[in-house]
Amino acid sequence: MTDREYLRGLRAPTKENPFRILMSACLAGITCGFDGTANGTYPSALKILRYDSVKVTKFCPEEFSFGTPREMCDIHGGTGYDVLDGKATVLTETGKDWTNGMIKASKRMLEIAQKEEVEITVLMDISAACGSQIIYEGNRFSENKIYQIGAGVCAAQLIRNGIKVISQRDYASLEILYSKIDRQHRIDETKIDHHEIDWYKEYFKTN
Ligand code: SF4
Repeated sequence: MTDREYLRGLRAPTKENPFRILMSACLAGITCGFDGTANGTYPSALKILRYDSVKVTKFCPEEFSFGTPREMCDIHGGTGYDVLDGKATVLTETGKDWTNGMIKASKRMLEIAQKEEVEITVLMDISAACGSQIIYEGNRFSENKIYQIGAGVCAAQLIRNGIKVISQRDYASLEILYSKIDRQHRIDETKIDHHEIDWYKEYFKTN
């Protein structure tokens, strides 16, 4: 769940003193996905890049540790927090253990976030690294793929260290962010965050 109060309290940035945002590189259109694509196109994130009142740092943690292209990986036995605590593992689709590489990538991402003094992070949801609201539980290519509420390893590392994360599907939160970046932007109150969509509420029985 995102922290909308935090977003509402963000300062108004200027060209001279822009918002410092860390973004999953693939959301910015960089072809760092496991298959060498940008994992699709996400206008909600790309919109942020259009403003000169933001400084966006782009980083792909999986590319940092495993290169591109690479195998797909998922968390087995818990969430990203459990991986950081040594209670869950990151395995590729063919069973390679990428746990250590993923933790290393999460530490690098945290270093970058701290060095850049980022004020908000916009990450690709459902990724074993960047997911912040939903991730897979085990191999996403299995016959009975299962989702779980939780963060991927890198998002967990950031959140645990006090860095706020929203996903590209947290449309209500993004509306608040747009309104901070662009004073002309009028918040669309009909937008909702990822955890508020019907699928999420039905799947996770959060009603
Ligand atoms: S690790 Fe993150 S930045 Fe890299 S491709 Fe996956 S979701 Fe995008």
